[in-house]
Amino acid sequence: MTLTPAPPSPATAPASRPAAQRSDPLGQALAQLEATAAHLQLPQGLHQLLATPRREMTVSVPLRRDDGEVEVLVGHRVQHNFSRGPAKGGLRYHPAVDLDEVRALAMWMTWKCALVQLPYGGAKGGVAIDPKAYSVGERERLTRRLTSELMPILGPDRDVPAPDIGTDEQTMAWIMDTFSVAAGHTVPGIVTGKPLSVGGSLGRATATSQGVVHCVRAVLEEHGRDVEGSTAAVQGFGKVGLHAARILHAAGARVVAVSDQLGAVRAEAGLDVPALVAHAAQAGTVAGFPGGEDATGDDVLFAEVDVLVPAAVEGVVHEGNAERVRARFVVEGANGPTTTGADEMLADRGVVVVPDILANAGGVVVSYFEWVQANQAYWWTEAEIEDRLEQRMRSAYAEVAAHAAEHRLTLRGSALAISVARVAEAHTTRGLYP
Ligand code: GLU
Repeated sequence: MTLTPAPPSPATAPASRPAAQRSDPLGQALAQLEATAAHLQLPQGLHQLLATPRREMTVSVPLRRDDGEVEVLVGHRVQHNFSRGPAKGGLRYHPAVDLDEVRALAMWMTWKCALVQLPYGGAKGGVAIDPKAYSVGERERLTRRLTSELMPILGPDRDVPAPDIGTDEQTMAWIMDTFSVAAGHTVPGIVTGKPLSVGGSLGRATATSQGVVHCVRAVLEEHGRDVEGSTAAVQGFGKVGLHAARILHAAGARVVAVSDQLGAVRAEAGLDVPALVAHAAQAGTVAGFPGGEDATGDDVLFAEVDVLVPAAVEGVVHEGNAERVRARFVVEGANGPTTTGADEMLADRGVVVVPDILANAGGVVVSYFEWVQANQAYWWTEAEIEDRLEQRMRSAYAEVAAHAAEHRLTLRGSALAISVARVAEAHTTRGLYP
């Protein structure tokens, strides 16, 4: 199966972007779907249905800044599909957010949830701001007003937000509180990724990274290798990258290069990741870490390592730089870090890519555990959560790898084929109304 980018349909064509900004997540997501629909021989109408978000809501969010001025922001929530259950997905605060990006991310959530057998559809939300430019109070007012505006389409049975880039467990607590005040009772199942004190789950904060490392182990084992003694580079040192680097280091991997938005650091002998975490907490960046030499983002992306974990934003590995990737395995902690063109270039060179919808699914898996626990008001131990997460990740990986081998697909082609088929089947079984 090839994942050749196809021109998106006019109805969903991405808005034009500056040439320097290569990332076109919606174009990528639609191209992936198109290739998968062809492979599965889906009828045209069903393909179109899956290419089109089920529901979108764009709201204006007036925010009173600390200086008294009112700034009007725009928020989006896209529910791509809910044939298999409530819509599920993160809320992103990042300057590059736009409706097309949110559409792509929502579609990927649909496939991700179906792939790891969660009874959810996919959604995503976003506001185009740099959260660092806003005070805590401003972020709270923004989040509460956004929640209030989106209230008609949110709910534990409708659409359940979670953290993503630029949002965290405090953001989720504000959403839960705003929703609960309006409902007149506490509704812990309205969001996941909450603080433990208000019904969050043990293990949620590190779940995405744990899942990434389960995939690293699985892909290495499949190729006769072990995580212990392997080398890794991690691009991004936020919620996903930081813990992925930490867990890889603890598992005996040599983490030789790490970057964040402000800088990068490398050490051939391996970075002391716990010390790097402490440094970054203090300095606000990995740059300047005394246990390594300063480097560039490219040094991380193109490091000579066994495993590259891109754990930041979309489109970082693209047609213009894919041939410089030296890693043997790319395990996608981020959503959409590899463009479809780059995907083919990597596959041609024998680089194995564990795709985002599998590799970073650990976060939404434990979100599901959190939702189940919150809805039942019955809490599991951390060991139970970690075991169940590992089981799900391992079995999803095994299923994707076996299907890939059987049908001569890349891991991404296989993961998409499995998940799109599941969503298509749910839709077809329910039938078209009226
Ligand atoms: N934002 C995360 C993701 O992209 C988690 C979503 C969730 O837990 O609902 O997978």
